[in-house]
Amino acid sequence: MPSKYVHTEINGHKIKLSNLDKILYPSIGVTKAEVIQYYLEIAPYLLKYIARRPLTLIRFPDGVNGKKFYSKSKPDWTPEWIDSIPIQHSEEVINYIVAESEASVAWLANLAALEMHPMQMVTDNMDYPDHFIFDLDPPENGDFQTVKEIALRLRVFLEAEGYDPFVKTSGSKGFHIYVPIVNNISHEDMVVAVKRLAKKFVAQNTANATLAMNKVKRGGKTLIDIFRNHKAHTTVAPYCLRGREGAPISFPIPWSVVSDLRSARDITIRNYKDYIEEYGDVWVDFFDRAVSMTTDSNEIIIDPNITEKLKSYISKRDFDITPEPSLAPVARKGNQFCVQLHDAQNLHYDLRLESEGVLMSWAIPKGLPYKTGVKRLAIRTEDHPMKYLDFEGIIPKGQYGAGEMWVYARGTFSWIEKKDNKLKFELKCRGFNRAYKMYQTKDNQWLIELKENKDFEEMAYPIKPMLAGVRKEVPISNRYVYEIKWDGIRSIIILENEKVRIFSRSGREITEKFPELLDPDLFDVESGIFDGEIVQLDDKGRPVFSHVISRMHSTGQLAIEAGTKKYPVVCYLFDCIMLDGKYITQEPLYRRQAWLATAIKKSSSYRMSETMNDGRALYQAAKQMELEGIMAKDKDGLYELGQRSDNWLKIKHRTNDICYIAGYTKGQGDRSQLFGALHVLKDNEKGKKQYMGKVGTGFDSEKMKNLLLRFKGYLSDEKMFTEKTDDDKTSTWMVPEIKCEIQYASLSSNGTYREPVFIKIIE
Ligand code: MN
Repeated sequence: MPSKYVHTEINGHKIKLSNLDKILYPSIGVTKAEVIQYYLEIAPYLLKYIARRPLTLIRFPDGVNGKKFYSKSKPDWTPEWIDSIPIQHSEEVINYIVAESEASVAWLANLAALEMHPMQMVTDNMDYPDHFIFDLDPPENGDFQTVKEIALRLRVFLEAEGYDPFVKTSGSKGFHIYVPIVNNISHEDMVVAVKRLAKKFVAQNTANATLAMNKVKRGGKTLIDIFRNHKAHTTVAPYCLRGREGAPISFPIPWSVVSDLRSARDITIRNYKDYIEEYGDVWVDFFDRAVSMTTDSNEIIIDPNITEKLKSYISKRDFDITPEPSLAPVARKGNQFCVQLHDAQNLHYDLRLESEGVLMSWAIPKGLPYKTGVKRLAIRTEDHPMKYLDFEGIIPKGQYGAGEMWVYARGTFSWIEKKDNKLKFELKCRGFNRAYKMYQTKDNQWLIELKENKDFEEMAYPIKPMLAGVRKEVPISNRYVYEIKWDGIRSIIILENEKVRIFSRSGREITEKFPELLDPDLFDVESGIFDGEIVQLDDKGRPVFSHVISRMHSTGQLAIEAGTKKYPVVCYLFDCIMLDGKYITQEPLYRRQAWLATAIKKSSSYRMSETMNDGRALYQAAKQMELEGIMAKDKDGLYELGQRSDNWLKIKHRTNDICYIAGYTKGQGDRSQLFGALHVLKDNEKGKKQYMGKVGTGFDSEKMKNLLLRFKGYLSDEKMFTEKTDDDKTSTWMVPEIKCEIQYASLSSNGTYREPVFIKIIE
């Protein structure tokens, strides 16, 4: 008989798990063991929203069709390592459970506490909530389409009000919209402010939204439930299961997914991993997006001081043409900053610091310094509206600042000193934490200097490039972009201090071999680490591997100079690891590629390895051009240093192989003094050398002469293999000891190479 209990240890705490085979979700047969397993797996995500918060639990010891128990106070038999917090209610004090660790989550799951409902504040700041919630509840028999539309409209509304709303499925009928706020406003004031927002929204959407709790009064409209924002009220946590058949999860999703859902119960214990895989923790910066909430309704309306400050910004732009944010400076009191990469007439970075409702802005032509002591020119530009913090897009030709704009860094900062002509501040965001000093030199000219770099670590050398997986067929999906697989020398290019250095894949420095690639002015940026392939192209634009290899192996200044003249190379860049002092491996590929494109000067020896969306067409084109193959890359994939990753897949037309040379045929015409083709053999599975056919291309006359010289010591009177060839009578035979590398398209039905090409002798 299986034991009723299993003892386990998590985070150093012994936990007794019971009734693991008990079915909690009968219609799909999910057991308690699976529920515990789910909670353990999701705990790192879940704990962000439940840790340090008083919890109300809903337990289903007999499964979701059995009786359910609301449990607020901590049971007597709770292990002492599980924390709690007392809260005074009107009639009693309740001692709420507080979960801090994976162990507590597992212990709660073992109680069949399928639903964990946290409060909106943390235990060390109980009077001040850090988010508010709109619970969208569709009417009885209401259709899901309407709730989706309301959710999307509410998002636009909240954003216009200056907030950053996040959405999750309720796991029941509708959506929960969460809005992070700075926790400096009381519950009571927050409820007033939330009610005002909700009323304003409903007034704009009277046809299908209501605040009426009473079911009859709702009149078939979707309820915007704001009641749960009261102190000590709770809502099911993000990533929590629901106590309903089918094991749905209240699951955070990107806004873009809302319209694809069929119901609020689409994401369940059975399919949640697909979503995690595709989107990761979509609320990852939830608490960083907190906005100060105000109780004064006038403050949300445009402040005349702010309009005054933005006069110059507004006068320079035609908002019918530019996609830049036109409107509403919104009341945000956080200390937010951004650095934008602006590919305008001259590529530059824009630094923007929040100050009194607007963004103070500077254009920094050479980027923010990232080494201490380095000073750079910063040109003060007009104040920008707060919405500019997230602006990315293309400012059309003819408009002020025409060109592409990207958010390169975004985070929070703190002032160390703030005077009219002198500023000190510390910037913090993913990828860096730096203190800067800025001061005005004259008019709009300032200097910016790095004072301290708190977490910038030079990357360890050698930098190991990311490697690709291999596929036989072109994977077709719109998550991929496709590019040519260049046949040359995989290289890491480092641009720094006005110098270019080049390293091979194994980390060997090969800088001096390629003088044509060493001018730092070939780039439009000050520093960067790039990933690419150095190739030598023939007159048809096809890479010739043997030429680039000979360039890499030439030594001595004269030989290098001669090689540079004879076989000049180009370098196709396809990725960017670091750009102007920020490691960008954690940015998705499409962003890295866009930034890389801005970093390369047009018509230089460095070229962008262009991507295409049509994988099949590119594959066919590459085949016709007799190129090695193509790459399929996940647009959203990160750069995984030194890893072989399926974010990149290579699909080759041709395969390389090693074989033995067993003789050669008589040459004709031009080759009458040389040879026609090589007979090659390969070890088969039985360890016997098997005939693989003839290789007749891949050599020029010089190479052939050298080969014939080499062959001299290996000639044999006898043919050393059994298979018959068409040239048995006219061939010269050899002892099969010299090995060579060849490349072929496929194997024919009798096992010989199709379209084989000679590459090189293996020493
Ligand atoms: Mn700019």
